[in-house]
Amino acid sequence: MKHADWQRLAKNQAFIDTALIGGRARTAADGQTFDVIDPATDRLLARVAACGTAEADEAVRLARRTFEQGTWANRPPRERKAVLLRLADLLMAHREELALLDAMSMGKPVMDAYNLDVPGAAGVFAWYGEALDKLYDQVAPTARTALATITRVPLGVIAAVVPWNFPLDMAAWKLAPALAAGNSVVLKPAEQSPFSALRLAQLVLEAGLPEGVLNVLTGLGEQAGRALGMHPDIDALAFTGSTAVGKLFMQYAAQSNLKQVWLECGGKSPNLVFADCQDLDHAAEKAAFGIFFNQGQVCSANSRLLVQREIHDEFVARLVDKTRQWQPGDPLDPASPMGAIVNARQTERILGYIAGAKASSARLVIGGEQLTINGSNNFIQPTIFTDVSPRQALAQEEVFGPVLAVTAFDHEDEAVALANDHIYGLAASVWSDDLNRAHRVARRLNAGTVSVNTVDALDVTVPFGGGRQSGFGRDLSLHSFDKYTQLKTTWFQFRQG
Ligand code: NAD
Repeated sequence: MKHADWQRLAKNQAFIDTALIGGRARTAADGQTFDVIDPATDRLLARVAACGTAEADEAVRLARRTFEQGTWANRPPRERKAVLLRLADLLMAHREELALLDAMSMGKPVMDAYNLDVPGAAGVFAWYGEALDKLYDQVAPTARTALATITRVPLGVIAAVVPWNFPLDMAAWKLAPALAAGNSVVLKPAEQSPFSALRLAQLVLEAGLPEGVLNVLTGLGEQAGRALGMHPDIDALAFTGSTAVGKLFMQYAAQSNLKQVWLECGGKSPNLVFADCQDLDHAAEKAAFGIFFNQGQVCSANSRLLVQREIHDEFVARLVDKTRQWQPGDPLDPASPMGAIVNARQTERILGYIAGAKASSARLVIGGEQLTINGSNNFIQPTIFTDVSPRQALAQEEVFGPVLAVTAFDHEDEAVALANDHIYGLAASVWSDDLNRAHRVARRLNAGTVSVNTVDALDVTVPFGGGRQSGFGRDLSLHSFDKYTQLKTTWFQFRQG
């Protein structure tokens, strides 16, 4: 599709502005709404229902009811699988619309949403649909006088609270395994980007999921999100978002019903380039992708680049060259590699980090400026600072924008120490053609995913998540069923014959 085609579709695009509870559209009982604004045009897209405790109670009540009635959980695995596969097909059938909803609400290039986010979400539903009728339980090695089965059973009511950077995908990563396992779910999308989740919830009904099994609660974090966190009848809450809010969810759980809380939080992922890397050009291209994709608003963005000193200048020169290709533009233009920052507040925050780095001893080698495109100021040039000191804010804090901090190192031990010197533990990348070094360093890096000779390796078949203040949950792969099921032991004692 061409720019003009996307613009035409955008002009006619409708936005759902109500929550979806028990299969029905719902406004907030007190009539409250919040505005969703296109950051690339500053245009108001919709005023969406700002739900609170009353609506959260209703959504959880209906989710609990469907779970206890077994309307979904007790359906044979093959039937549940068919629903999830139908949903995957429906997502692909509505690919343009879903891509547009995410691009317009949070500013990402529509072609990224079209090529990656929507097929990614469909693929996740298909994968869990395919998985769910191939899972076997266990029999324990007891004496012959007993039979002990260890089965995985759904938890009941799951809440999922997700961010705006990959609205459809973050929802899919939670919903697919939670539903595949037989739970009922209340999903709270981010207030910046609720539309694709709402459309997804309609398509889920079309695919055959009974009403009330999936409910979408729109609203602000401090209201709708908090109401779910504090709810006494939710069994587990899966959260993706900032570390600060992740900490709140642990408090909410402690103050309410001790619901299980699974956190996928922020990061400050290092990318280590050693002098023995043979293809520096490829490494530079991937390093640029690792920080500028999605305007740098990626939890596992490779936002710290650690380069061995002997190749530092050459590598930075190549990187600056690659960075020129990442100029932001209208998200609806297929030629734009970067779009808009999610909103004015986030833009200001990123500019604050840039100003701080400019005032430090770090050296700005490209970018560093705000841009105005189509009348909106929510655009920032791809930006690189070298000579970043390991303890300054740019090297330690999650910027969540297109800003890369480069630091030189001399030897392997120093590189590993620098890489691990932060509060997060989500992802890391290593570039080396020395097999021994690649293994050695990968083993020593404190990260949930280490990518060797690539950046940000990600696939539905492998777990995604981190340690330390990046959280402790794992999305994707069969391991994510750990979050949405519990192990049940059933012990049958035999009478002696
Ligand atoms: P955020 O923490 O501000 O918001 C995430 C969700 O929490 C939203 O739905 C929001 O409404 C809700 N929320 C906000 N304040 C709340 C409160 N007081 N109580 C209850 N709920 C509240 O994060 P964001 O700005 O939407 O997303 C960016 C963050 O997400 C970054 O830190 C990024 O690293 C992280 N992230 C992590 C992963 C991962 O898998 N580890 C993936 C994507 C994004």
